[in-house]
Formats: sequence, structure tokens, C-alpha cells
Amino acid sequence: MKLTFLGAAQTVTGSMHLLEVNGHRLLLDCGLYQGHRREAFERNRGFPFDPDTIDALILSHAHIDHSGNIPSLVRHGFRGEIFTTSATRDLCGTMLLDSAHIQEKDAEYLNKRHKHGTKVEPLYTMRDAVASLAFFHGVSYHRPFTPIPGVTAEFLDAGHILGSAITIMDINEEGRETRLVFTGDLGRDGLAVIRDPERVYKADYLISESTYGGRSRHPADDIEQELQDVVTHTARKGGKVIIPAFSVGRTQEIVYNLHQLADAGRIPEIPIFVDSPLSTNVTEVFRHHADCYDEETCKLLQDSGDPFGFGRLHYTRDVDESKRLNSTNVPCVIISASGMCETGRILHHLKNAITEPKNTILIVSFQAEGTLGQRLVERQQQVSIFGHQYTRRAEVAVINGFSAHADKDELLAWMANFDDDLKRVFLVHGNLDQAEMLAGGIKEQREVPVTIPARGDSVSL
Ligand SMILES: [Zn+2]
Repeated sequence: MKLTFLGAAQTVTGSMHLLEVNGHRLLLDCGLYQGHRREAFERNRGFPFDPDTIDALILSHAHIDHSGNIPSLVRHGFRGEIFTTSATRDLCGTMLLDSAHIQEKDAEYLNKRHKHGTKVEPLYTMRDAVASLAFFHGVSYHRPFTPIPGVTAEFLDAGHILGSAITIMDINEEGRETRLVFTGDLGRDGLAVIRDPERVYKADYLISESTYGGRSRHPADDIEQELQDVVTHTARKGGKVIIPAFSVGRTQEIVYNLHQLADAGRIPEIPIFVDSPLSTNVTEVFRHHADCYDEETCKLLQDSGDPFGFGRLHYTRDVDESKRLNSTNVPCVIISASGMCETGRILHHLKNAITEPKNTILIVSFQAEGTLGQRLVERQQQVSIFGHQYTRRAEVAVINGFSAHADKDELLAWMANFDDDLKRVFLVHGNLDQAEMLAGGIKEQREVPVTIPARGDSVSL
């Protein structure tokens, strides 16, 4: 068999790998590459293979850097089946449409700005996204399936976001048995709502993520206390807590934690708003997937009927409601997207809150270089929002413990479960420095070759 690394190789976006077995071709993930606009557009549009030669696709989870280029794949001729968990299929139903909307808006904006240039086509349209949904096939965890002849695959819970999966592939090639394991993105123990990552004990080859392969973070249990402190402190000053959060995972985690804190009387009785149509829709998918909940969330479901809704929590969908929220002057918590403060309604909330010392901007997600979120983390005094300069007087608080990725120690502990059959580890989905630090950790742990493939690298196994 042949394995080719086509994306998220020495970087963190555009996850895509190609497995060729018995003359059949199976794609692992088909994520959107995110970077500078032109480069990203070219890379996402131009597949390094003919999409109609791909027999099937296995999708690890719904994050756009893993799923977001599926509509392009279908637009360019892919007609195979997309195997994923039911929760991921349902999340994609919302997220790919949202992504298509962004692609269309982007093209519209560029065409308006460069009226006389060549017309820019969106990477894909709403129609492409809708068409791609027809190819999704939801599979439960622990139910073996056959994506292509000679490969028996099974999903295990990756504990990263709702529906995320580790894929085990038992490959039979002319009588030779090989087991390949793909982590997708690996979560960590103790995350709210979802179950902990499952352990795997056997593999010949492992493709592992390495996002935080070089970092060790706080234990996940500090989070509730930190959240309680920020909300209580800000409410006492009469201010708002503005939380930029990704629509999938982080928003529901925050809501879940606030629910717990409110139930225990640990935060003051102030209203809490989720102001993002996508987050609201995604939360609806979470509600329908109790099959993915951990024990605590099942208990909350039993006790309250809805882990994502409680007395003081409001979901806003329409724009007028969102605008009213902007002008409110009572203490409250507002959770909105995008998580890195690049687009979306969060910008309106920041614009309104940033100049008041009584407010707090609470950062709970990873912020990439060059984003407004990163400038806030750096506590810059002057920031630009919608092209206007604002002097920041609001406080900025950062809670790091919310990460949905295993850190270096957690990745190493998870890998330590594999027995001596392990022949090679491939590290993907991490910047080179992170992957190298993880490789160093693995080599201290066991004698196994570790490869950090570059984009386009192939191996015959
Ligand atoms: Zn992810």
C-alpha cells in the first residue's frame, strides 16, 4: 500500500492524506487549507489528483480544516461515499453550508473591490455544499465498515469535539495484514460534554496529530474556577463579559460550564447570551447527539432536560436581537463567533465593549498570528475594528485550559499504550517545531522511527 501526505503536513490546516490499497484510493480527510487568501484559494481549488479517481473518503471530524474542502472535491467529480460518525455528518450539514456562504461572500467582496479585474469565482457555492451532503454516510463508533475492498475500518472516540473519531484501518493486501491508525485530532481527558479519547493498543503504523506536540498546559480542571472569577469580577463592576468562541465545541463547552456554575450558585444571576446563528444551529446538533455525551453530561440531561439551555441563557438568531444586545448596558455574558475575532457578530460586540474599563474580553481559544484575537491577547492598547482605531480600556482575561487538543504529555501518554508491533509513527497536523519536539519525546519513550512528512511525500508500506 501507498500513503501520501497531501495536507496538514508540517502545518495545521488542510488535513488530507491519500491511502492506495489493492488499486483503490481512499482519502483521509479533505480539509480547507487556511492561509493567505490567494495561496489558500489556489491550493484548495487545485487537487493533486483527479477527484473522480477517489473511491471513498473517511472524515475524522467536522472542523473545517478537516472537512471544509469536501464541497470542492464533489464539485470536481468525486462520487464516492464519505464515511464519518453520525454526529460529524450532522455537524457538516450546518458547517459546510456556512463555509459556502463565507466563500460566496468573499468572492462577492473581491469582485466589488476589483470591478474591472477578472471575475473571482467562489471556491464553492451553497449548491455545491448541499450536493456534497448526499455522499455522507454516518457510521456509529465501534461498528466496522468497509470503505474500499481490503480495508476494514472502525471509529473510536477521539474526545476532541462532538463526533470526532480515531480511525483504525485493518488492511489486507494480497494476504498481508497491516493495521494503520489515524488519530484525526486527538482530544484530552476531562473535556466538558464529550467522552475522553479512547486508547488504542495495536498498530503497525500510526498517523498522529501534533498540534501541541511541544507544549504542556494547565490541567483542565482549573477552568471552572477561572471562569467563575472572571464572570463574578466583571459583574461586580457592572460590566459585560465578551467571549469570542468557535461555534463548534468551544461555545457548547463554555455554556456547559456556565450552566454548572449557575446551578451551584457560584456566579451572580446575570443573563447569558449566545449570539451567533452558526453556534445556535450547531448547539441544536449537540442536543440531538446524546450518543456522544460523557457521564456528567448525561446526568445533567437527566436532571435538567437540556445541558445547553438553562434559565438565564438565551440564543439569539436574528440581527435585530443581536443589535439590541449591543446597546444593553446591564451586566451580562455574551458568547459570539468568530473565535479569533476575524469576522462575524463578535466584532460588533467588541467594538461596543472595548473602550469601557468595566467590561472584560475573555479569550478562551487559540489565536493565530495576525488576528485581532492575538492583538487582544497581547493586550495592545490600540486596536483596529472595521477599519477604525479604538483605545482598549476593557480588561482582557485569558483562559488557556480550554484546548480541545492533547498536549505533549497527553499525546505521549496516549502513544505509550501501543505495543511493540508499532513500526513507524508519522506526525502531521502540527507546525514543524511542535512536531519535532513531539518526535523527540517519542524517541525518548521507545525505539521507533518517526517521520514528519512534507506535503506531497509518499511512502510504500
Ligand atoms: Zn479539530
